[in-house]
Amino acid sequence: MPIQVLPEEVAAKIAAGEVVERPVSVIKELVENALDAKATEIIIETGEAGKRLIEVADNGCGISYEELPLAIARFATSKLKTAEDLFNIRTLGFRGEALASIAAVSRLTLISCPPHAEHGGKIVVQGGKVETYEPAGVPPGTVVRVEDLFYNVPARLKFLKQDSTERNLINALISRYAVAYPEVRFRLVHDGKVFLQTYGHGDRREILATYYGVDVARQMLEVILEEPDLSIQGFTSPIALTRSNRRDITFFVNGRWIQDVALTSALLQAYHTMLMVGRYPISMLFIWLDPEAVDVNVHPTKAEVRFRQPERVFSAVQRAVRRALLAQPVGIHITPSVWSSGTSHQMIDPAWQMAADLKGGTAPNNAQEVPSPSEPNTSFPASPPLKQTLLPESRIPLLRLVGQVGATYLVAEGPDGLYLIDQHAAHERVLFERMWREREQGLAVQPLLNPQPIRVPGVRVDEFQHYIPLLQQWGFEVEPFGGDTFLIRSVPAILRNSDPVVILQSLLDSFEEDESLLEKETEARLIARICKRAAVKGGQVLSREEQEALLRDLEACESPRTCPHGRPTMIHLSVEVLERQFGRRGSR
Ligand code: ADP
Ligand code: MG
Repeated sequence: MPIQVLPEEVAAKIAAGEVVERPVSVIKELVENALDAKATEIIIETGEAGKRLIEVADNGCGISYEELPLAIARFATSKLKTAEDLFNIRTLGFRGEALASIAAVSRLTLISCPPHAEHGGKIVVQGGKVETYEPAGVPPGTVVRVEDLFYNVPARLKFLKQDSTERNLINALISRYAVAYPEVRFRLVHDGKVFLQTYGHGDRREILATYYGVDVARQMLEVILEEPDLSIQGFTSPIALTRSNRRDITFFVNGRWIQDVALTSALLQAYHTMLMVGRYPISMLFIWLDPEAVDVNVHPTKAEVRFRQPERVFSAVQRAVRRALLAQPVGIHITPSVWSSGTSHQMIDPAWQMAADLKGGTAPNNAQEVPSPSEPNTSFPASPPLKQTLLPESRIPLLRLVGQVGATYLVAEGPDGLYLIDQHAAHERVLFERMWREREQGLAVQPLLNPQPIRVPGVRVDEFQHYIPLLQQWGFEVEPFGGDTFLIRSVPAILRNSDPVVILQSLLDSFEEDESLLEKETEARLIARICKRAAVKGGQVLSREEQEALLRDLEACESPRTCPHGRPTMIHLSVEVLERQFGRRGSR
């Protein structure tokens, strides 16, 4: 085939392919345009998850009637003039190709009017060809309507996922932008239903709650770091609040949502040794630096950036996040030697390790090498690491109850030493295994005398609905009650004494729209949550009978040594450890 210059419309479609991959990418471009136009209110509407209709309306600076044709022309932008400007970008857009690209693969209507103009205008483009161009009396601001996306690129249409998935992507995008721009009012409407509404109050945590739920939003730790030419603000989850994937790790750089693998690993470094394998934090960090220190022109959808001093940015992220984590109260793990007076060996506590890191010292990464931080020259041999004192993952021997300590721990004696059992973690484990067993024979269910209504944040209704059959299997009878309200008719019997609404709310928070997650994993996580709710708490006094029953139940468990979240249920102090610690054995 001879080499030919491609016809204009073919070239346009190819270019569009880079920017416009799916409905959410259209919305991203349009919302960024509205933000660039300094809008304080942005309303996003979709029909059929954006396939039939996307409309973004804003109250920004508008486009004059005369400039409308330019706005939809390729490489036409009001945001930069010269090539040098590319290295000092202060707007989200700069290539002048988004509207042109969208217009090439849809029917696009652009209606706009600057605040003090005599009149505005309307232009309609179909498949890149102008159909209508006329003056119009419209309120200030801009409305972009995109209909029948990909009508002329059927291959693209085929690649789109089911509506709920496309909508979830849109929800995730808008919620993130809503948190990033708390002074802007956002409203997201799918098929006439409001899914997200923010009020421009400027309170980021409040907006976080509309997406992640109040429970998660309340727990998130605040991240703040101020340095010359570099600031970081945002939120990151405490170590107990994690996800099974990295999808809830979000970075904004100079107001732009970017995906950066290196930044993500910098963040994960800050959590090093604190999270279980395969668990990831929820984080939303807003990084601001001199526009000249970032190259934003490196990716077709501007989803990646290049830092002039990447190391500086990564280390700032780490420091900021560590500081936030350190500020939270963390439990101290204590080795057996706490009982030998004056020699308190602390286990390698993540917080301690970080403190050491921050002070410039290197914390040993393995408990075996830990000398006591308070008393390095102890005459006793270093205590064996806690990990070794935990028996291998298997059944536990029969135990003799000694009693309860601090209304939180059970003390028991086994043939091989002393056991300290965390009553909450242990009960969680017991309930977890019981629920799985019972499911085979039919789970005990407690119907509610008065069915309880529960309201679900608009953006999560679809997701919630998706889980209803699963919830049903586990004893929650839930049915839609119109809009974002559902009725709870029953709960699993083990939860009969808990508030059903609070429980479902917390379950909802634990759901992640993760298609890659196996059904079994989602289910296990759900059950773990239920058990966490139902289990006795630390600080609860148990009768002798209850303590006994808990021990017997724990002995009968398949995996008695960890709770369903993977934390230990017990500490075992072997006879040998005790003898060492009391100086009855070992070198002096
Ligand atoms: P870019 O954002 O890269 O400049 P676009 O194709 O997205 O390119 O938009 C082209 C131009 O149209 C912008 O530079 C801006 O001047 C104008 N424009 C687009 N959307 C809006 C809007 N919502 N409000 C005001 N002006 C807009
Ligand atoms: Mg743009």
